[in-house]
Amino acid sequence: MPPQVLAALSRQVISHRSQAFADLMESVRTRLCKVVGARELPVVLTSSGTGGLEACCANFTGPQGRVLLLTAGYYGDLFGRIAANHARSIDTLRAEPGSCIDVGRLETALQATQYDAVLVTHSESSTGVLNPLQAIAAAVRRYSSALLLVDGASSVAIADVAFDAWGLDVLVTGTQKGLMAPPGLSVVFMSGAARERLGQSRSPSHYFDLALALDRAKTHATAFTPAVNLVYGLDAALEILLGEGMAQVVRRHEAAASVCQRILQEAGLRLFARPECRAPGITSVCVPAGVLAENAQVFLEHEEGIPLSIGFDAWKSSVLRIGHMGWMAVDDVAAAARCIARLDWDAMKPVQAGAA
Ligand SMILES: *Cc1c(COP(=O)(O)O)cnc(C)c1O
Repeated sequence: MPPQVLAALSRQVISHRSQAFADLMESVRTRLCKVVGARELPVVLTSSGTGGLEACCANFTGPQGRVLLLTAGYYGDLFGRIAANHARSIDTLRAEPGSCIDVGRLETALQATQYDAVLVTHSESSTGVLNPLQAIAAAVRRYSSALLLVDGASSVAIADVAFDAWGLDVLVTGTQKGLMAPPGLSVVFMSGAARERLGQSRSPSHYFDLALALDRAKTHATAFTPAVNLVYGLDAALEILLGEGMAQVVRRHEAAASVCQRILQEAGLRLFARPECRAPGITSVCVPAGVLAENAQVFLEHEEGIPLSIGFDAWKSSVLRIGHMGWMAVDDVAAAARCIARLDWDAMKPVQAGAA
């Protein structure tokens, strides 16, 4: 995290019922609007990003709801699992691993069935894929009256997101990725149509009752005791982001992604995500045949000081995932990619039993 954020976190705790806290929250909510191009102020909840998804599903998918889930991997499936606790029925449109949602297939599904909500993960962190959110939103607006609910955990303040202009209804993110603050807060943006829908049914969740959160937010208060110091940290991080300018923040992430991709490909490695849908915040790369991604992960962390992740599910041991989001410089990402490009892959193979 930036040092200004660390310093802000260590400020004295204030009462969350004080005017000073309301002023802080007003600053945070106003700045968050500028990050995603939203006119209406979001609510800030004390939970990780998944709590924001829970709030979204509890308030917008059930219990009569007919839901269309668009999924391109683990996080899309997670959104669907959360919605399954609330919705009446869920249909799934699935992209091949490494691919993004096909808008033509979405249009066909929307024309065939009237849905109450469409769920999509903007940046699918498990595969490094960016879904074409603007085109998805246009299709939903054109063919359906469904609310479009978006997991923007690894795209807000990383990829281009235009909440009002694209016609999104609910957008959820956490604070620990593009927003460069500590984990522990989630942010939920809601359109006018989403706010109207809120009034129509009672939330089954009290902690994640978004009508209650919005009511308290009229005075920039929260329904329950928030993580006050995380709000200080988020405000400091937003000041830095808006100082850089959101267009430049997105360009920096795109530059990091493209230099990372280029260096890995020049070293003969194959990228997991298809070229037309690579996420700007995370690069997934296949390790050479016979290599264990876990071995490369341990080596890079311990010998080179580069923490990264491995794959998910069936690709767990054959993929490395390099996160380049939030407080990072393009040159540092390039240096890390060069380290991976230079790896002695034979040394990353599993140790053979009985080998000398
Ligand atoms: C990180 C992430 C989440 C989960 O967020 P937590 O803060 O860990 O609860 C959800 N969706 C996507 C796409 C993510 O990258």
